Amino acid sequence: MSLSIESTIKLASGHSIPQLGYGVYQARSKECEDGVKDAITAGYRHVDSAQGYHNEDIVGRAVIQSGLPRSEIFLTTKYMPSHTVHSTESVLDIVRKSLKKIDRTGDEKPYIDLMLIHAPFGGEQGRANNWDALVKAQKEGWIRDIGVSNFGVKHLQALPSPKPSINQIELHPFCQQKDIVKYCEENGIAIEAYSPLIRADKNRYENPVLKNLAKKHNKEIAQILIRWSLQKGYIPLPKSVTPSRIKSNADVYDFELTSEDMKALDGLDEGAKGACTWNPIDQP
Ligand code: NAP
Repeated sequence: MSLSIESTIKLASGHSIPQLGYGVYQARSKECEDGVKDAITAGYRHVDSAQGYHNEDIVGRAVIQSGLPRSEIFLTTKYMPSHTVHSTESVLDIVRKSLKKIDRTGDEKPYIDLMLIHAPFGGEQGRANNWDALVKAQKEGWIRDIGVSNFGVKHLQALPSPKPSINQIELHPFCQQKDIVKYCEENGIAIEAYSPLIRADKNRYENPVLKNLAKKHNKEIAQILIRWSLQKGYIPLPKSVTPSRIKSNADVYDFELTSEDMKALDGLDEGAKGACTWNPIDQP
């Protein structure tokens, strides 16, 4: 399997997304700014932010400071819905504010490569209104691709058309979300894997399958996890604000997991019990 730091995944829209993303959850101020710049230096071309992370403007600034043209970096943000139903127009207003924060080029009409609905809150009507707002913003040219996050199969099935380009879910060997992955794969929805490092959980990193594979390939456990995700065809979003880890998390292209290695990792699935985050895929 010939994967490289430049590998991309083709979305149903026809656009391409760099397969390796850089996550910035809980990255604040200077560490976020430096982290994004270090990530770009290490070869990442895709940054995953959100309104709820309070760093969209910092990410936007760091992209400008990197000196690369805006068009070479794939930027994602997420609209955080509430549990109550909001009108499409009010959501659209909030969406436009994010765009101005994250695209700092000063262009009259900034754009975002991808905007997601962060969680399936608001019930069926709320989800439909939120989705319609993203569809409108996309038609207005503000957003290239639109998608969802933490959507379970029933949320995806009930969503008005068009289908989302992407569903971003918690995804690593202990939490494989098999029903959602199957539905997305059958419906042309690309899958982003959040918390791909299991948030560096110490107990999980003692797992013998992970330890043995790290030893076998002379790699870190984090690198084994990222490689598993890439070989599955997912879009992993490892987060780190530590310069050496930002680099090592992208140093995953000089080895390959065999089909037996992949099977051993696939065997670690614990379903929903294996989740390490909020994983709100079962919202009513
Ligand atoms: P993660 O990427 O699985 O783990 C991040 C943690 O692992 C940090 O504590 C980081 O520490 C540590 N780490 C990073 N590289 C390491 C390495 N090589 N060795 C050991 N430890 C390492 O977890 P995450 O931040 O929850 O998820 C990643 C991204 O997915 C987020 O940043 C965000 O963009 C997205 N996300 C989305 C949702 C959603 O609801 N849509 C939810 C969660 C996350 P340092 O930073 O100190 O290096």
